[in-house]
Amino acid sequence: MIFLKHVFFDLDRTLWDFEQNSRNALQKIYDQHELSKHFDHFLHFHKVYHNINNDLWKKYGKGKISKDALRIVRFQKTLERVEVFDLEFAERLNVDYVATAPKETILFPNAAKTLIELKKRYQLHIITNGFAEAQFVKLKASNLFDFFDVIVCSEMVGKTKPHRDIFHYALAQAKATPQESVMIGDDHTTDILGAIQVGMQAILFDPKEKHRKSAGQHKIKNLGELPYLLTTL
Ligand SMILES: [Mg+2]
Repeated sequence: MIFLKHVFFDLDRTLWDFEQNSRNALQKIYDQHELSKHFDHFLHFHKVYHNINNDLWKKYGKGKISKDALRIVRFQKTLERVEVFDLEFAERLNVDYVATAPKETILFPNAAKTLIELKKRYQLHIITNGFAEAQFVKLKASNLFDFFDVIVCSEMVGKTKPHRDIFHYALAQAKATPQESVMIGDDHTTDILGAIQVGMQAILFDPKEKHRKSAGQHKIKNLGELPYLLTTL
């Protein structure tokens, strides 16, 4: 019997509430830059941005566009939807967004409490596809940084989850074997299938219950379920 020693977490949408935090940051930018001159209301701006940003992240995940392009183009295209063709303005919005969003601090319910509990029994680590400079600011601003021994951002490896290289790199950094490790994340493809293919166990974090539970799969709705669930693996 092999005992669980290492718990790897995804960050965005698993511990750090990306949607809420991003929305709060966008609201600040919307106000600061008087975007109400161009959009009907904040929700209009938010929806346009959200859809464009999601598409660009998919392209980034497939290696089709660079990080720098992703950052500028998401605002450039959002502005173009309301007939504003101003690349410099898009760049200013991006600079402010990148500076603001990682400092937002909303976590999922029971995140801190659960990490305190788990830290007593396991080594905790992060594997994230987010940009390194943003992820470290997030971890520090929301008081998560000290919980984790190894923090791996995909840029350090040159591959994003679900590529096996990023999991192998993280396991090596943590001096962990796949058998004594579990991955917890909200994305069925990048986090769960990625971890399983290298022999780790995996738990899907599904707060909105978007996924049906399949046989043999571990799934939680609230992070507070983790301390007990991990003792049953
Ligand atoms: Mg995630």
